[in-house]
This record gives sequence, C-alpha cells and structure tokens, in this order.
Amino acid sequence: MTDFLNKLLSWYQSNARDFPFRQTTDPYLIWLSEVIMQQTRIEQGVPYYNSFVKVFPTVHDLAGASEEEVLKQWQGLGYYTRARNLHATANEIVEKYGGRFPENYENLRELKGVGDYTAAAIASVCFGQPHPVMDGNVIRFITRHFGITDAVDLAAAKKEIMEVLDELMENVQVLWEVSSATELLRPTIGLLPKSGKPLTSSLPRLTLTEASPSGDPAAVPDATEPSHNPFHPGLFNQAMIEFGATYCVPRNPNCRECIFNESCYALKYGMVDKLPLKKQQQALKSRYFHYLVISVRGKKGIYFRKRTENDIWKGLYEFPLIETSKPVTLPRLLNSIEWKQHFGKTPLKILSQTGSASHLLSHQKISATFYRLEIEKPSDKFGSLIHPKNIHELPVARIIEKYLETHQTSEL
Ligand code: SF4
Repeated sequence: MTDFLNKLLSWYQSNARDFPFRQTTDPYLIWLSEVIMQQTRIEQGVPYYNSFVKVFPTVHDLAGASEEEVLKQWQGLGYYTRARNLHATANEIVEKYGGRFPENYENLRELKGVGDYTAAAIASVCFGQPHPVMDGNVIRFITRHFGITDAVDLAAAKKEIMEVLDELMENVQVLWEVSSATELLRPTIGLLPKSGKPLTSSLPRLTLTEASPSGDPAAVPDATEPSHNPFHPGLFNQAMIEFGATYCVPRNPNCRECIFNESCYALKYGMVDKLPLKKQQQALKSRYFHYLVISVRGKKGIYFRKRTENDIWKGLYEFPLIETSKPVTLPRLLNSIEWKQHFGKTPLKILSQTGSASHLLSHQKISATFYRLEIEKPSDKFGSLIHPKNIHELPVARIIEKYLETHQTSEL
C-alpha cells in the first residue's frame, strides 16, 4: 500500500492539471467546483466555475441571488435540480451556519444535494478529514488495479471498492500525521503548487515502517523545500481521480509505461478492457417534444412558458409544448386532442417546421421539432409574449438555446 501511495502521489505532483479550484481549500469554492464538475467534463466545467465565482464570489452572494439568476449561470449544464439545490444549500449555509461551511463529513452530508462524494471531497480537501471519494474514474482505476471483478453497479462491488479506499486512506492518514508533526509540510493556500512548479523533488519517500510518531529521526521526511504535505487526504483523493481520469482511461490506457504495470491485476490477467464490469445498461426512454414557436401577427416577440412540473428542466423557460411518446407527422399532430386544446378555433398560420433535434440525458432521449406559428390576436393561454431583446435573459434548456442560436431573434 505504501509503495502504491508513494507512486501515486509522486505522479500527481508532476502530472496534475492546474485548475483554479486546485489552488484553494475554501469550502465554498471546492463545493462549487464539485457540483459543477459532476455535470460535465472538467475542461468544459472550468468556464462555468470561473463565471460562477465572478458573479457569486461568496456563499452570501449566491444565497442572495434569485433562482432565475442561478439558473441562468447554470444554463447548458443540464440537471437543473442541481442548480436549485445549489441555491437552496447556499441559503441553508447562510441561515443555519452564518455563512461558514460545517467542518465535518456528517454535517456536510446533511446539506441539500450534497451526497457522499461531495461531502467527502469537501471534508478531505478543506478540513483534512480521511474520507475517500469514489467516482467513475476512481472505480475504474481501483477495479483494474486491485482486481475487483463483480459488476460495479451492485452494492457488493461498491462496498469492496470502498474497503480498498478506506485502507489506502488509513495509510495516508498515518503518513500525513507523521509528516505534519514535523510542522514542515502543512498545506497553506491550496493543495497544489502553481503550474510550472512540480514538487516531485520535495516528495518525502516515507514508508509506513520508516514512519514513527515516536520521534525517530527516520520518520522525518527527506524534503528540502516542502510547502505542501503530499500525504494530505484531499491530495490523495484528487490524485486518485486524476489518475483515473487522465491515465487509467476507459479505452487503450498506456499500460506499458504505467507506473503500476507491475502490480496491476487487470494487466496481469488481460482484463484491462473488461474492467470495470457493468450490468446491462438501462434502456433509454424516448420522448418527442413538439415546440410551438408562436408569434402574433404585427407584433414582436415569441410566447414562452415556465416549466413547473416535477420533470426535467423544472424552472426553465420554453415554448408551449405538446409531448408524444412516438414520432408523429404534422397532419396527425393537427388532429390530436392536445393541438385542439391549445388552439381550438383560434385562426393561425403555420410558417415553418424545423426538423428534429435530439438531446441525450442520462436515461432519456429527447427529440424535438419546432413549429413556427402565427396567430391573429394575443392570448395569455400560450404564456408570456417575450420581446426578442429580452429572450436571452431567460434561463432555457440547451435544446431551446440551440434553436435560438440558429434562428436570429430579430426574426422572431
Ligand atoms: S496498468 Fe493499465 S489498467 Fe493497470 S492501472 Fe495502469 S493504466 Fe490502469
């Protein structure tokens, strides 16, 4: 285990990508980065993180914002419930904890929308607590290296993976306590050196047998200019994720040059492309959205409604919608009960129909068709008529945003 940790943490200090949230241990910023990065690839998430920090620099700023302002910043990330939870949690932290994040895992875990992963990330990175994180990258790396061959979507495999992580973390903690006792290695600003300053040369080659809290000189790390403790629980978590995300990748990892190629179970037994094992993927549910892009003759603007049902994109705006469970042609749509409920005898002109756009969510595939319609007189039953210059202020799902990008708002 100690050899594994030495290799991993050395590798991390030389190879970690430099992101703004790796230069801080501020729990608000770590929490923000974790929630955003759960939504998207890290490179795509960084601009969102930067823009959140700019608009809401503190938890007080986020709590004081309106839900629509938060949704607007989140726009394009998907899973809008997470944005609402983010906002609700900011309020809870301000109201219940006076704006200071709770410092232990259990209290963090009680916050709305904070699961095991995020609580462990904040507790370890910000407060040095020994809670391992387990995401898809960590699962892949652990199952391959330590040879966990049960389907990882079963509870038994998750438990086994967590046991391995707990054991690794216990070792990290012992090494951390020993090196921290020297008062030489406490992390100061963030957990990583600024880019361009790898700390490989300062990584002490501690081993568990060398490490002795009793004050044995052998326990003192051999570090010349140390400013960070490489055995910090937060660094260990970040290193596990980073190795899985950038080296032990899903397809064709470079095992020949991997620092773990002598100890890796999957490499030894030819199972690299088989692990982690998964049960059959859940079938995708198909939904067909027919968006009614309605304007009024002689007036500027398009009707928008807010989604209020407990469904995807709750709280976002969209055009009036008819949903079907199968694809339908325009004549069928015109004859449907839903169409008649919307328009009855209202005189209208169908100006155009835009071919189907698809949007993939975790368990749903949305196929959307857009119909440009013109009615004679304004009517509240279609929602609010929004002037083109105000449309970009509304929080909308990516599929609507794409439609608006390809159709000049001046045309609407
Ligand atoms: S040898 Fe290959 S499969 Fe094993 S840990 Fe390294 S990259 Fe992953």
